[in-house]
Amino acid sequence: MSSEFTPQEGSCSCYSNTYTVNNKPIGRFICHCTICQEFTSQAYNDVTVSMKSDVSNLNLIRTKFRRWKLPPNISRGLCTRCNKPSIEMALGGNLILVPTTNYPDIAALPEPTMHLYYNRRVEDMDDDLPKYNGFVQSQAMIVKALAQGMFKRVSKR
Ligand SMILES: [Zn+2]
Repeated sequence: MSSEFTPQEGSCSCYSNTYTVNNKPIGRFICHCTICQEFTSQAYNDVTVSMKSDVSNLNLIRTKFRRWKLPPNISRGLCTRCNKPSIEMALGGNLILVPTTNYPDIAALPEPTMHLYYNRRVEDMDDDLPKYNGFVQSQAMIVKALAQGMFKRVSKR
């Protein structure tokens, strides 16, 4: 895998909120949970995960953060103008989640590695990615994948 990543400026759909993702995200998942469906107004949330230190120039004046009941440690930001996802923060802001639709160049992102909360899906996915169901399984797999992603980043330095 190439370590080259051209920084991208992410934004909500109306560009009122912007930020720069400076390194290749450490993970990418497709989450089918009902909260992600509500948050994105789509069938699922195709989202990248980055470390806080990899994201800069946060301009989130028009982002309103809200916490749903589960998972309890994710703060999801919606744009107050376009009402579309702006950015999400997990683990007290140490992890930054960005829906892939908020990137100008989705092709430069890592491929998604799994489906989460697949039992909540609106539609079947025609791919070979692993599909995990429910909170316990989904949470366990995301923690594992992020740990691997972080290890790769740290060991590269
Ligand atoms: Zn907006």
